[in-house]
Amino acid sequence: MTSQRTRDRLIERLQQQGINNQRVLEVMRNTPRHLFVDEALSHRAYEDTALPIGFGQTISQPYIVARMTQMILASGMPSSVLEIGTGCGYQTAVLAQIVPQVYSVERIGALHQQAKKRLAELQLYNIELRHTDGNGGWPNLNYRFDRIMMTAACADIPRKLADQLNHNGEMILPYDDGDSQVLLKITRRHDEFETEAFESVSFVPLLPGIS
Ligand code: SAH
Repeated sequence: MTSQRTRDRLIERLQQQGINNQRVLEVMRNTPRHLFVDEALSHRAYEDTALPIGFGQTISQPYIVARMTQMILASGMPSSVLEIGTGCGYQTAVLAQIVPQVYSVERIGALHQQAKKRLAELQLYNIELRHTDGNGGWPNLNYRFDRIMMTAACADIPRKLADQLNHNGEMILPYDDGDSQVLLKITRRHDEFETEAFESVSFVPLLPGIS
């Protein structure tokens, strides 16, 4: 069930759904998603569906991972990406095989530790992980990122995060208006922010504090 054929079928499905960035498709074909879920669920790892990872959290649906990664790359190769919500680390692993440097924060200590171990096992070394509340952005305030990807839904866009975007930097996030969630792209132009809305999505909520 984790065979190359099963993986190839997932990639075909992503292509049918409009994912056409060849690098994204190639990386997702070769990233072992089954290593990011519990062994009992590994036979479902190449289905195009979100799966539970414990602590009430999920590994994102492959289509969403592909879609958001493709959006991150749409206006050129960023030198750095900050991910909010490491979770199991799968999206982090996909990003790290494409962009030069990935930073990722997770509020749940046990998930942070597990992701750290898995990503080291995959020998992905261009990743920095922190156990912290992503509402505050990356702990070192001097950092500025070309892209920020939020993988948990928020109702208010955290100001500190927006402040950590470079000029012309872009933030991709699931925005929750109380009724439904939509994927937003926010582009920073000096001190102004432009917003563009895309398809509706379903993410776990961005929560405050750490645990
Ligand atoms: N990127 C993951 C998605 C994980 S689900 C993947 O590849 O599948 C979203 C994650 O965001 C959860 O692990 C949750 O604990 C985390 N999260 C929620 N609020 C957060 C916050 N304020 N700061 C950091 N992480 C947060």
